[in-house]
Amino acid sequence: MLESDTSKLSKKELNIIQNYTEDLFKTVREPLLVLDRHRNVVGLNSNLKKKFKINGEFEERVSVFEFNNGQLDTPEFRDILNYLQTEGNTVTERDIQVVLPQKRKRGFTVNASVLQLPDENSIILLSFKKLKNIGDLSRQEKVYNRLVENILSNAPAAICILRGQEHTFEVANEHYIELIGHRDIIGKTVKEAIPEAESQGFIELLDHVYSTGEPYIGNETPLKLKVGKDDFKNSHLNFVYQPTRNKKGKIDGIFVHVVDVSEQVVARKNVEDSEARLRSVINTVPAIIWITDTDGQSAFLNKNWYSYTGQNNEDAKGMGWLDATHPDDRKKAEFAFLDAHNQKKSYSISFRLRNKQGEYRWVLDKASPKFDDDGNYEGMIGTVINVHEERLKENLVREKDHRLQGIVKEATVATAIYTGREMNIELANDAMIKLWGKDDSVIGTPLHKALPELDGQPFLGLLRNVLETGEIYWGKEDKVDLMIDGEMQTGYYNFTYKPLRDKNGEIYGILNMAIDVTESVTSKMLLKESEFHFRQMADLMPGMVSKTDAKGDDIYFNKNWLDFTGKGSKYLQEVGWESFIHPDEKETFLKAWEDCLNTGCNLEMQLRLKNKEGKYIWHLTRCEAVKEDDGSVKMWIAANTEIDKIKEEEKRKEEFLKMVSHELKTPVTSIKGYVQLLLTLLKKQKEAAEASKLPLQPSLERINHQVTRLTRLISEILDLSRIRENQLELKSEEFNLNELLAETIQDINYTNTQHKIALESEVQCQIIADRDRIGQVVINFVMNAIKYSPGSQEINVKISREDKDKVRVSVKDFGIGIGQENHKKIFKRFYRVGVKSEETYSGFGIGLYLANEIIERHNGEIQLNSELGKGSEFSFILNATQITS
Ligand code: ADP
Repeated sequence: MLESDTSKLSKKELNIIQNYTEDLFKTVREPLLVLDRHRNVVGLNSNLKKKFKINGEFEERVSVFEFNNGQLDTPEFRDILNYLQTEGNTVTERDIQVVLPQKRKRGFTVNASVLQLPDENSIILLSFKKLKNIGDLSRQEKVYNRLVENILSNAPAAICILRGQEHTFEVANEHYIELIGHRDIIGKTVKEAIPEAESQGFIELLDHVYSTGEPYIGNETPLKLKVGKDDFKNSHLNFVYQPTRNKKGKIDGIFVHVVDVSEQVVARKNVEDSEARLRSVINTVPAIIWITDTDGQSAFLNKNWYSYTGQNNEDAKGMGWLDATHPDDRKKAEFAFLDAHNQKKSYSISFRLRNKQGEYRWVLDKASPKFDDDGNYEGMIGTVINVHEERLKENLVREKDHRLQGIVKEATVATAIYTGREMNIELANDAMIKLWGKDDSVIGTPLHKALPELDGQPFLGLLRNVLETGEIYWGKEDKVDLMIDGEMQTGYYNFTYKPLRDKNGEIYGILNMAIDVTESVTSKMLLKESEFHFRQMADLMPGMVSKTDAKGDDIYFNKNWLDFTGKGSKYLQEVGWESFIHPDEKETFLKAWEDCLNTGCNLEMQLRLKNKEGKYIWHLTRCEAVKEDDGSVKMWIAANTEIDKIKEEEKRKEEFLKMVSHELKTPVTSIKGYVQLLLTLLKKQKEAAEASKLPLQPSLERINHQVTRLTRLISEILDLSRIRENQLELKSEEFNLNELLAETIQDINYTNTQHKIALESEVQCQIIADRDRIGQVVINFVMNAIKYSPGSQEINVKISREDKDKVRVSVKDFGIGIGQENHKKIFKRFYRVGVKSEETYSGFGIGLYLANEIIERHNGEIQLNSELGKGSEFSFILNATQITS
C-alpha cells in the first residue's frame, strides 16, 4: 500500500507539486486537500482550514490520517483512499463523518481524483463539501440515524461501532464511554484508545471478525482496563462483535455490544468459591453426605460415597444408591427415604451398605428436608455414617437381651426388670406377675402406677437408691403389702434389686428377683410363739427339762434345772448337763446318747445327777427326738424326773424280798420234800388204802402245786437279786433239748390238767447250756401261756431248726395276746401289762425279765409274735451242737 511507503517526496518533487496546486487553489473555492502518493498532506486551501477549524500552519508532509488530530482517520475515508489508489481514479459524492474538536461530528461529501503529474508523480485531490445539516441526509438515513441514536442511548448495554480495518470508534454510547473509563475515543482506533486491549487479544479478535465476517460472541471474557497510571480494573464482559456491511455488502465496520457482567461473575465466582470450599469440606468430613432434589433423585453425593461404594456418577444417578444397599434392607431403606421425602420430614434408619470390596457394613442414614428462604421444599440432605461395630455389638446385646428375656420369662423365680427413673416395668415374668397379683397389662407401665399400694412402703425409695448408688439391695424376709384379688395381703420375700448397666457402665435399669418366703416366715413366727409356750410350760413342769439341738448342743434348760444345779443357763449350756451325771452312769449314758444322736432313737435311763449341794439324786432320764416331716431330727427334748424316792423304795422292796424269799425258801423246800414223800407213799399204798375215802391225794397235789409255784417265785426273786448283783451263775453242760422240753411239759401237765400242752418236735437237738435255767425259761413261757389264756386250752410247744446250727423253741397260745406297744416293755423288770390285768392275773412281772437275761447270757435271742386278743407266741433261739431232723 502506498501509505505504508515510508519514503517521502523530495523537496524538489514537493515544489513541483506545490506550484501545481497553488494554481488549483486559486480556482477551486471548495475546501480542497492535496495528498501525495504516500497519502501525506502536501497542500490545502483556506476554505478547508476554515471548515476543519485549523488555526495556523499545518504540518507539511504529515500523513493524512494524522492530519488535524487524525480527524480523517475514519474507515470511510480510508475506504475512499484505498478505492482511489487501487480500483479507480475518481470518487464522487462519498459521505464521510469527521469529528471536529469538542467532539462535534460533521458530515462532508467527498469528491476525489488522482491526478497524474509529469515525472510519473501523482497527487490525490480531495474536495470536501460540507453537508449542511441532517436534512441533507436521505430520509431513510435519518430514520436509521435516529434509530441508532435511540438504541445507543437507551440500550442498557455498552455499544459502539468501529469503522474500517483499524477499528476506529465511530460512535459509542454513554455506557460504553463509562465502561472504558471516560476516555476520549471517538475517531481513535481501538489500539489507540484502549492500548491494553491488544495484549489481551481483542484487536486480534476484531481483525478476525472484520476479515472473516464471522461474528464473535464473548462470554464472561475477562478484560483488564487501565484506570490509573498503574492501576487496572478487572472486568468480565459478555459481548458481541457483529460485522457491519456497506451498501455493497462489504464489511465496513464492527458493531460492538458489551454487557459488563463483572458483578455477576464475581458474585458467581464467590458462590462458586464458597461452594468449592463447602464441597471440599463436605468431601473431607468422614461421613457420606448426600443431597436429593425435589423429585427425590440424587443431586449430590460427596466423594466419600463414591470411594466407599465404588459407584460412579452414572451408578449413583436417580436412586442408584439403593443398588448399594443390602437386598434384605433395600425395601426398608427405600421406604424410609420416600416416606420422609413425601412428607418432607426428617428420618433416621440403619441398614447394610455394600462397600467396594463387596462387604456389607451397617450404616446409619440420617436426613432432613431442605427448604429455601421462602419455605419451598428443595429436597433432602443426609449423612451416612458407619455404625457397623456398634451395630454388631448392639445386635449381640440385643441377642443377649433376647436370651435374657427368654430366660427371665421361663424362670420360675419371680423376675422383673425396671428401667428409667420412672421404674418402667420393662419385663416381668409370669411368676412375678402372679406374685404381684396383677396381670400382663402392668408391663410397660411405671412400677408406682402398676402397684400403687407400694406408696408408703420402702421399696420405691430403695429402687431409686439402687439406681443412684449402683449398690445391690438384698431384701431378707422383707414384709410387703400387696393388693391381691382386691384385698391387701401381707407377704414376706427374699429379693434383690440389682443395677443393670449398659456397655458404657451407665445404670439403665434394675433387675428384681424375688422369692416368696411367707410360709417359712409365718411358720417361724408360729414356732417362736410355740417356743415361747414351750418354755413357759417347761418352766412350770416339775421335772428338769432341757432342749438340745440336732447336733447334741444344749440350747435350753428350764427353771428346775437352774434351781437344781444352782447354776445359770449359760454355764449349763457350756458344760452340758451330762457333766452332772454320776461317774458310774456317765459312761453308759454317753454311749447311749451317742447312739441316739446317730440313730435318732429315743433314750431312757436311770441315772444320778449332782444337785447344788453336791449330792447325787436318782433321775429317770428320757431323751426324745423331735423330728422334721422328713424324719430327720430337729432337736431333742430331755426330761429328768427325780426317782430317788421310788428308787429307794424299790431297793427296799428288793432287799425285803430277798430276805423274805431266803427265809421262805428253806421251809418251803422241806414242805415240798415232805409232800412229795407223802405222795409217793400214798401211791404205793394206793390199793391198800383203797378203802379210805379221804380226799388226801387232791389236797396234797394242790399243796404241791402251790409249793412249786412258791418255790419258783422265790427262786425268781433270788435270781433277780443275783442279776442285780451280777451273781447269776450259769452252768454249762450238753444235753438233749427235746428231752428237757418233754420233761418240763410232763411236769407242768402233772400239775395242770386243764390245758392241753402239745409238743411238736421237728428236730432233735443237743445244746450246751444251763439245763435248769433253760428249763426255767420254758416253764415261764408255758406258765404264762396258761395264765394268759383263760378262754383257750390249747398250747403248742414246738422245737424247730432256725438256722444251720440254731434251734428255735416256741410256745404258742391262743389267749389274750399282747399289744404291739408292750412287746418290748414286758421284758423289763416288774413290768406288767395294764393295771386291770394285774388284778386278774397274779404275778410280779419278773418272769420274762429273767427269761430274757438267761437267754441273752446264753448268746441267744428271745422273740415275741403276738397280737392283742389273738394269742401270743414266745420263742427263744439258741446255738445247737447237733440238730437232726
Ligand atoms: P408275770 O406273768 O408274773 O406278770 P412276766 O414277766 O412273766 O410276769 O410277764 C410279764 C407280763 O407279760 C405279764 O404281766 C403279762 O402281762 C404279759 N404276758 C406274758 N406272757 C403272756 C402271754 N402268753 N399272753 C399274754 N400276756 C403275756
